[in-house]
Amino acid sequence: MPDAKPAPAKALSAPQKALHKLGLTRDIDLALHLPLRYEDETRVVRLSDAREGQTVQVEGTVTHQEITMRPRRQLLVTLEDGSDTCTLRFFSFYPSHQKALAVGAQVRVRGEIRGGFMGRTMMHPAFHAAGGELPDALTPVYPTSAQLPQAYLRKVVASGLGRADLSETIPPELLGSLQRAVHGTWTLRDALRYLHHPGPDVSLDALEDRSHPAWQRLKAEELLAQQLSQLTAKRERDALRAPELRTAPGGLHEQLLAVLPFALTGAQRRVIEEIARDLARPVPMHRLLQGDVGSGKTVVAALAAAIAIDSGWQCALMAPTEILAEQHFAKLIGWLEPLLAPLGKRVAWLTGSQKKKQRTEMLGLIASGEAALVVGTHAVIQDQVVFQNLALAIIDEQHRFGVAQRLALRSKMTEGEDGQAREPHLLMMSATPIPRTLAMSYYADLDVSTIDELPPGRTPIVTKVVSDQRRHEVIQRIRAQVAEGRQVYWVCPLIEESEALDLSNATETHAELSQSLPGVLVGLLHSRMPVAEKKAVMSLFTSGHMSVLVSTTVIEVGVDVPNASLMVIEHAERFGLSQLHQLRGRVGRGAAASACVLLYTPPDGGRLGETARERLKAMAETSDGFEIARRDLEIRGPGEFLGARQSGAALLRFADLATDGHLLDWARQAAAQMLAQHPAAAEKHIARWLGGRSEFLKA
Ligand code: ADP
Ligand code: MG
Repeated sequence: MPDAKPAPAKALSAPQKALHKLGLTRDIDLALHLPLRYEDETRVVRLSDAREGQTVQVEGTVTHQEITMRPRRQLLVTLEDGSDTCTLRFFSFYPSHQKALAVGAQVRVRGEIRGGFMGRTMMHPAFHAAGGELPDALTPVYPTSAQLPQAYLRKVVASGLGRADLSETIPPELLGSLQRAVHGTWTLRDALRYLHHPGPDVSLDALEDRSHPAWQRLKAEELLAQQLSQLTAKRERDALRAPELRTAPGGLHEQLLAVLPFALTGAQRRVIEEIARDLARPVPMHRLLQGDVGSGKTVVAALAAAIAIDSGWQCALMAPTEILAEQHFAKLIGWLEPLLAPLGKRVAWLTGSQKKKQRTEMLGLIASGEAALVVGTHAVIQDQVVFQNLALAIIDEQHRFGVAQRLALRSKMTEGEDGQAREPHLLMMSATPIPRTLAMSYYADLDVSTIDELPPGRTPIVTKVVSDQRRHEVIQRIRAQVAEGRQVYWVCPLIEESEALDLSNATETHAELSQSLPGVLVGLLHSRMPVAEKKAVMSLFTSGHMSVLVSTTVIEVGVDVPNASLMVIEHAERFGLSQLHQLRGRVGRGAAASACVLLYTPPDGGRLGETARERLKAMAETSDGFEIARRDLEIRGPGEFLGARQSGAALLRFADLATDGHLLDWARQAAAQMLAQHPAAAEKHIARWLGGRSEFLKA
């Protein structure tokens, strides 16, 4: 008997592959692939009525044809429709063109009317024989790729639209509020049919700006799917079990509070309570702690860790890079380590650059539970790392972590005494506050705690935007600051295309400053230095021996040197707004008056671009992280703003949070009701809109 071979997978044709690449695999995906714009082939106009710049369809007789060589080889055809004439010009053409456009031929031609000394002209118009039926709807033009011809895409979309299940998923009791929100009674089916093939009398403006009720209906559906998927994720998580963590009387949490060199701010006390309440519940916490740079998130993390350790569990702390992990957690470890020692517990480090021997030792400490606290980079979540009982994972600068990494962290489960799996609680920290509409939309499944108050005694930072032509004045100012015993950061931009350029920029500035500031120790820090060297430079600066630190963006987050009072950012026009804000947050941490100088270099003889100017203006006008985030969102749009959260996941395709807030409001309340009363319809709705992508939205 011949071996049973699996049937060979049917090879995909090139256009089919291109469809898959665009994510168009199911009928519903095709039905939801909406036109970018439309072409009007429903009517034939008279040449004399066609205005310059209009794309029109005309029908007439060819009265003349010639090939000229000047200015270059081209086919010229004269068309007459009884009202006027028009010259058709082809720079590339075949004998078939000449044949179809022979003198006397009756043709229908479509193209953009241009003026010119030869009168009306069309360049490379589409043409076919005259007569023939006119379509009764506008012709859709779809977003596509080079491998996917528009005509092919039109056909598959039309057939996908015909086959797709477009039955109503929204329960009858929610239709009333939906119709009020979208200003119309459109069903999904009607809306899609209409948007793919609108009638000729439609207002193209309403279609283009997506204010048409058919568009509104689609956007409302899309937002509903997003809300449903996030609510579902939250429900699923609520069904999971997590260790219940509580402070012990006289325990680590209490001791830590007693040794802190400062009193907590009201905001810090409030967020710690919110976190402690979550940790005491048997369901995994999924909380985002947001607070402006310098608002004191680290101590909150330390107190949360203490709660976990008090309950006899382990806590893991992660930062996106090694140097950040070190900088971020140095204080925290300084507080906790002496308190852990009497308990026979330790802090373990895990980083990528560790020697094998040390790493093995650390892994042992983690597996045995001797390490109550595990600190490091994403090395903490690698497969080989086995915790004895991880109860709490804290991620600093969460937006810098990918979704996959966060999922991996959550998978570090341990078994409870009842033999059931326990998932760790998750606390994510971010200095980039999320504007409200985004939080309601993309982070609907997250609980958010906000530190909205800075520790007392901070002096506001004065921000100046200064042209690079006045660089020498800035250097004078550095000299004065250093003479007063203050320290200075000088940040050079990271030029992503060229690390070498980035380096030479920082190196040159370092040489320049060393030369103009004799007797002052000027250090250099950049991303390509060996870790040990970076650490040595950082410790010279942290201890106050080094007065000026020139660096690329490695100090972007987390460095804490209260004596630093001046921050100079070179080529500030190249930085993003939230990056500038984070950098500026490195000064103003002590009592001294602090300043931030944004040096900009306009392009040769020109002016800075619009967005660069807006960013610098925003920096000079406000130092409130929430206001900065709002403006950043305005300037960049949500796609870039969200960064890692969205990698692999679909952003909203249709809805725009800037204009569709009312639809989001509807979707939020509808999602809760639908999930509670119509779970099957909710599931169908999510599958229709998100297909296989919903997993990513849950991370
Ligand atoms: P971030 O929120 O940016 O991570 P940090 O946790 O690094 O801020 O805190 C910034 C500085 O403020 C640190 O030096 C920290 O020790 C100090 N700090 C934190 N909380 C307080 C407080 N309540 N009172 C005074 N200083 C505080
Ligand atoms: Mg921090």
